[in-house]
Amino acid sequence: MVVEHICGFKKEIFCRECGTELIQNSRGQLMCPKCGRRPAILCPQCGRLW
Ligand SMILES: [Zn+2]
Ligand SMILES: [Zn+2]
Repeated sequence: MVVEHICGFKKEIFCRECGTELIQNSRGQLMCPKCGRRPAILCPQCGRLW
């Protein structure tokens, strides 16, 4: 799944723990559907927290 940051940057991002593709919840936060982690990732385009 390609996730989209509020700045428009789009990318597939994978969970560091289990390698599953991350999904976005209704608030736009990243989370892993397998292990339930919510990784803190900085957007490479705008530098803000995802
Ligand atoms: Zn995971
Ligand atoms: Zn961004």
